[in-house]
Amino acid sequence: MTFLSSDPFQSVSDFFGSSVWTIALVLIQVFAAALWLALAYWVYQDARRRFENSGAITACVAIALIIPFLGALVYLFIRPPEYLTDAHDRELETLALESQVEGLRCPSCDGVVGPRFLVCPNCTTSLRQPCRRCSEPLEPHWQVCPFCAAPAAPTSSRTLDDTRIERRRRDDANQDPEPGIS
Ligand SMILES: [Zn+2]
Ligand SMILES: [Zn+2]
Repeated sequence: MTFLSSDPFQSVSDFFGSSVWTIALVLIQVFAAALWLALAYWVYQDARRRFENSGAITACVAIALIIPFLGALVYLFIRPPEYLTDAHDRELETLALESQVEGLRCPSCDGVVGPRFLVCPNCTTSLRQPCRRCSEPLEPHWQVCPFCAAPAAPTSSRTLDDTRIERRRRDDANQDPEPGIS
């Protein structure tokens, strides 16, 4: 009956003054500190996978350390939406799709070439011949120019070297009559 007759606030202050409360307080503080450090570590691990810049990673960890608990929440809002590996994969996928859409690679060196390239810029392999009338690039197997309906040259599959040799021959032939004229 001594408990009831005594001041109820006395028992409350007794509790807070007791060693149980002291231990509980220490445990709460230790738990809070552990949570704070764990959050900062999580921010470090997550930022490492999202930022290439080491300065940005350090800044994110600093935010998590300077502002306990809320810093990690702030980081959630400012972090890049995807992992670096995902971004890299997507980049590769886009590149693969692009080359699929274009579907164009040099048959000789496998370098990427444009749909209107006459010559591979890497290895100088002849890819297309220009139309004799409108100069549009023609695929080697085309029989007729789709732009001006002129018949494609039957020698359209020849290499540029052949064309160069022919041009040189033609030039030589043109020069021949000149001495006769003079
Ligand atoms: Zn090539
Ligand atoms: Zn044409």
